[in-house]
Amino acid sequence: MKRIPFFLLFPVFAGLSAEPALQKAVKARVAGSYEKLFELYKHLHSHPEISFQEEKTGLRLGAEMRELGFAVTQKVGGHGVVCVFKNGKGPTVLVRADTDALPVLEATGLSYASKQKTTDERGVEVPTMHACGHDVHMTCWVGAARVLTALKDKWSGTLVFIAQPAEERGAGAKAMLAEGLFEKYPVPDYCLALHVSHDQPAGTLGYTSGFAMANVDSVDITVRGTGGHGSQPQSAKDPIVLAAKIILDLQTIVSREIHPLEPAVVTVGSIHGGTKHNIIPDDVHLQLTLRSYSSKVRLHLIDSIKRICLGQAQAAGVPKGRMPVVKVKDEFTPATYNDPALVKRVNGVFAEWFGKDVLIERKPTMGGEDFGRYGTTRHKIPIYMFRLGSISPAVVQRARATGKPLPSLHSSIFAPDPEPTITTGVTAMSAAVLDLLMR
Ligand code: ZN
Ligand code: ZN
Repeated sequence: MKRIPFFLLFPVFAGLSAEPALQKAVKARVAGSYEKLFELYKHLHSHPEISFQEEKTGLRLGAEMRELGFAVTQKVGGHGVVCVFKNGKGPTVLVRADTDALPVLEATGLSYASKQKTTDERGVEVPTMHACGHDVHMTCWVGAARVLTALKDKWSGTLVFIAQPAEERGAGAKAMLAEGLFEKYPVPDYCLALHVSHDQPAGTLGYTSGFAMANVDSVDITVRGTGGHGSQPQSAKDPIVLAAKIILDLQTIVSREIHPLEPAVVTVGSIHGGTKHNIIPDDVHLQLTLRSYSSKVRLHLIDSIKRICLGQAQAAGVPKGRMPVVKVKDEFTPATYNDPALVKRVNGVFAEWFGKDVLIERKPTMGGEDFGRYGTTRHKIPIYMFRLGSISPAVVQRARATGKPLPSLHSSIFAPDPEPTITTGVTAMSAAVLDLLMR
């Protein structure tokens, strides 16, 4: 059965709204310009660039925005792009798209699937894919900029559209802010972004008010012992046994030390040590991810990891100079807190434009997103990232009926349904910005 795109249903509601003419104008423009946007989407999808390598993507986006009359600055915080469009007095709204892809071999079988490869920072050749949907985000970002500039006589204020690199590494927002995003360019009154969702039907919009995504920390632990022959454990200090004890003890932080109603995760995602059956190695390396919402819990997790590593090493009799080394990486991503008042206001607009049935409340997750950083500066800017349904409703329905999970974000077979996803994303972002710049 052929699904009816949502935008064809819009005229039914148009007569009920406060601004039917504007809604009609936006929806007609989005529908009419879809083919051109789809071309851009296919280009971005088939030319993915991983974190810190988003050069061509940044240049392409900059060119698109220059054409629309934005003042464009390239290479802000790496391959970031800042695009400013001043249109009289009024508030400033920042709209962010993230631009990086992932080292994943695409297996969607789509005609425009990525066949690209690159060399990563370790010097290893890796395939690249927009497996997190950032190509959808960029397409909606350009689409909304086209709509808003075309309808500039309908609003007054300033647009700051930013294309942010290195989201997947938690580094891009930090780098753009460090290069003066809120000092050299107009300071936003609001920051908006969207992110595709792998389990919401295309045409729907998801929201979480308040905390939506978690603090993310990466921790490296080097468990050190003294190596030796596997047949003579008495003359060595075995870091493998010590690492095993540390890993088990780490499981008690969340279960025994954190309040049961406070979200927290400690996951050991990688363990590497040793080379051969009969050699006790000198070191074992662990890589952990930590998730939390409050700063208090975050610091507790870090302190406990350090305490457990030290305590277990001492109990094992490891020499003083060979205590474990615990390194908290500076890839920290702060929790994303969607401003409840902004969520309420923008959701009201979505309900008015699309009908309230398209809104889906989502539980907070322990995933991470560096968009949260824009709300944590001294400016205390209200931010809102909403979730954009991206999967054909028939596919979602089938998955629910069979219980077979849908491919998640970062999966090699994650494949958004382009037309309803992009048209809804562009319309929703345009509607939100228009509302913020009209009252
Ligand atoms: Zn991702
Ligand atoms: Zn993402």
